[in-house]
Amino acid sequence: MYSNFVPTHLLPYADQLIADLKALDAKPSYCPYCQYNQFYLVHDHPKYYRCKACHKGFNRSLNTPFYRLTPIEDLPVIAIRRLCGQSLFMIREELNYSIAVVKNRIQAIDRYMQTVYPELFQWSQNFIYAPKNELPQIIIQQVNELKTWINDQLNVTHANCPYCGSMKTNRITEKRAQFRCNQCWRYFSYLKGTGLEHLRHSDKWFLMIDLLARGKNVDEMQLDLGLCRTTIFKNRKIWLKIIQHQGLLVLHEWILGRKN
Ligand SMILES: [Zn+2]
Ligand SMILES: [Zn+2]
Repeated sequence: MYSNFVPTHLLPYADQLIADLKALDAKPSYCPYCQYNQFYLVHDHPKYYRCKACHKGFNRSLNTPFYRLTPIEDLPVIAIRRLCGQSLFMIREELNYSIAVVKNRIQAIDRYMQTVYPELFQWSQNFIYAPKNELPQIIIQQVNELKTWINDQLNVTHANCPYCGSMKTNRITEKRAQFRCNQCWRYFSYLKGTGLEHLRHSDKWFLMIDLLARGKNVDEMQLDLGLCRTTIFKNRKIWLKIIQHQGLLVLHEWILGRKN
């Protein structure tokens, strides 16, 4: 949701922008050339009308940057994704369009925003094209929440035995949260069921999370983490699952949107 990213004082503009884009598909109330209020539908997709008085053709997008763009129904969806900081590539992948089609739409939305909502436009440009290490406040917050949770998991000093329920257990490793039960003598990991048990290299977890949040691609991550591509791909998937499971949904959506 873009309200997680757009500053409060610009939110009314963002809402209005989406409403404007939604209205493009609505029926006009009069002919923009002669103001006559009777016209007929020439074709439906995209909606195009002809005036019964001056016989000129038009629709709601006449005299806007959206004129002749088809389809126009998904302009609101694209604008919302842009306000959430999603890359062109991600939008393209989700809507199954070519790069050129998405680019045209983004450019038209930008032109419209620049004219009608210049402040919002300025913010969105800074937001989307900001250096990747300048993260939005809510993302920093959720990354910190995730790290705190991981620390809690790794540093747990006591856990009940999942096999016999005994409270008499000992932590046996420094690194991972491994325990041994003093009653049934079985070993267990406190991380089991959190998703973290599928990940190795716990010394690199925080770095990997930072890189994911910053939208680094696999090649960049490979350099920074010193892990192979397959491991990075696999870990990315596991992290996304963990993040979703922890309810950090803004961060989840953010990382998906950074994929490039
Ligand atoms: Zn007319
Ligand atoms: Zn036990």
